[in-house]
Amino acid sequence: MKKIRDGVYTNDYAIFFMTEEILKDLDEGVLQQAKNASQIPNVEFLGYTPDAHIGKGTSIGTIIVWDMSKAWISPTIVGVDIGCGMRLILTDKFADDIDKALLKKIMNEVEDLIPTGVGKKNKKIVLSKAKYEEYLQNTEIDKDISDKMVLIHEFDLDTIPDEAYEIGKEQFATLGGGNHFIEFQKLHVLDKETAQKWGLFDGQFVVMIHSGSRRFGSVVGDYYQRKFKDVMKSKGITTPDPQLTFLPIDNKVAKDYIKAMQSAAIYAKINRHYMSNFIISVLEKHSIDAWVLYDVAHNIAYMERFANREKLVIRKGATRALPPNHYLIPNPKFADTGHPVILPGSMGSSSYLMKGIQDNIISYHTVNHGAGRVLSRTKAKKTVSIEEFSKALKQGQSGEILINTKNLKDFLDESPQSYKDIELVINSVITSRLATPVAKMEPLGVIKG
Ligand code: 5GP
Ligand code: MN
Ligand code: MN
Repeated sequence: MKKIRDGVYTNDYAIFFMTEEILKDLDEGVLQQAKNASQIPNVEFLGYTPDAHIGKGTSIGTIIVWDMSKAWISPTIVGVDIGCGMRLILTDKFADDIDKALLKKIMNEVEDLIPTGVGKKNKKIVLSKAKYEEYLQNTEIDKDISDKMVLIHEFDLDTIPDEAYEIGKEQFATLGGGNHFIEFQKLHVLDKETAQKWGLFDGQFVVMIHSGSRRFGSVVGDYYQRKFKDVMKSKGITTPDPQLTFLPIDNKVAKDYIKAMQSAAIYAKINRHYMSNFIISVLEKHSIDAWVLYDVAHNIAYMERFANREKLVIRKGATRALPPNHYLIPNPKFADTGHPVILPGSMGSSSYLMKGIQDNIISYHTVNHGAGRVLSRTKAKKTVSIEEFSKALKQGQSGEILINTKNLKDFLDESPQSYKDIELVINSVITSRLATPVAKMEPLGVIKG
């Protein structure tokens, strides 16, 4: 591994945005997956964020870039939960003014409106076919407060597999399982000037949402993964890992995938849009004014311009972090700061709000998407005890962290112990000069999927 600058290393295949401390513990599997991804034709850039860890066919924390004129696309790298991302709601209240009893009440009322867990439907939302179809092609939704998507191809709803289309209609405003969450937090300002511009204040009560495109995206992802395999086989395109598929973007199946992926990404955003509306309605009932600060996706392919060339950028478990004055910043409010980047830690540790900086051109304006796993799900279930998990939740900075379920044994793989130390990861982001912190949030109560 060769050092390029502090927190930036390279080997024959990729660039690693991590401090030595993180690099020394980097899983061999990530290096193998980097080697595999580098074998996709015409790759212009391949990078890994400090939360990188092994995934199915490719690592979480991957940044991969092609020039649009010779780009390839990979459903494996985009990932199955297309458009999965984070949304942050701000309020006008101090967290200290919300006592535990009120917080518990709010959490229960939110859970009454937003189903949690795998496969759930939300019966409170009834959509006409016309509205649903409008949604799946709607790049205007929340356009001032979320990542801007430049369409690579026009929408075509016929590219969406029937199963995804059918089930998707009923799953808006559902959180999903496992790693997805709604977290009530207390915010601590770190960068006063930016905080003021964004409407943040010390001690603020805020709500973070992590969710994706539900069954809609996973069916799209699986369906095209199979189709890509077939086309690769028929064209004699080989892959270093049968789980890793890719095709040139001018291939018919690749085009169809891109169209369906775009709809799935919008699906995920609308899913979070509905959830934030439900959360805001509960807060308003308790005389708490609330509004959305920002929404960012972390499993997605975007078209973006660098040095006057259009590029295809896939961020898998990685977040776009546009620096000040970037042409894709959706709102003048963020023009001279860069837009907010929402980085979750774990249910027992801090999360961060960051802003991108000019120096992150070397990561194609990308940062990580969280702390990242240190224990695989299987390993976490085997090694973390209920006692340790419970102890971590009892030791919140502001006392015990409330949770929606008491069955800790059912989600040991979501324990704070399963994730990397967020402070180490943020320190790495700062050292690599990818982004700077604006605020830090501590968890008060978590609704887990
Ligand atoms: P992923 O999208 O890869 O499933 O997870 C994103 C990140 O969310 C993880 O890397 C982890 O750092 C963070 N995370 C997972 N569960 C929680 C939670 O309950 N609360 C917070 N604040 N962060 C979490
Ligand atoms: Mn997800
Ligand atoms: Mn996610």
